[in-house]
Amino acid sequence: MDKSQIPPGAPGNPVQVNINLDQVPAMMCRCGGNRFYPIQQIRTVPAVLSPSGKAQIMFLDGWRECVLCGAVYTVSELQKVQEEIKKRGPVLVHAESPEGSNGNGNKG
Ligand SMILES: [Zn+2]
Repeated sequence: MDKSQIPPGAPGNPVQVNINLDQVPAMMCRCGGNRFYPIQQIRTVPAVLSPSGKAQIMFLDGWRECVLCGAVYTVSELQKVQEEIKKRGPVLVHAESPEGSNGNGNKG
């Protein structure tokens, strides 16, 4: 197969780019944080459900927890959050506020 027929990014034709990470936006949490812990879920697969017929342990990745506020996201949820953030505009990263402005809607 002629490799030039394969679109860039498709299997067999990975996109080669030199990325300056300083120019790449980091995904952000709703709180403004941009660092995340990887979260893993560990599941036990009973023998009856296991393809091998033996009980197994499964490690599931795919969640990230915001270092600042503890919110947990899947990658697709995090992508939705980026859209929300874009719509509402840039937000200053706020230090912990003792009262918190979210909640009851009781304005002064
Ligand atoms: Zn957060």
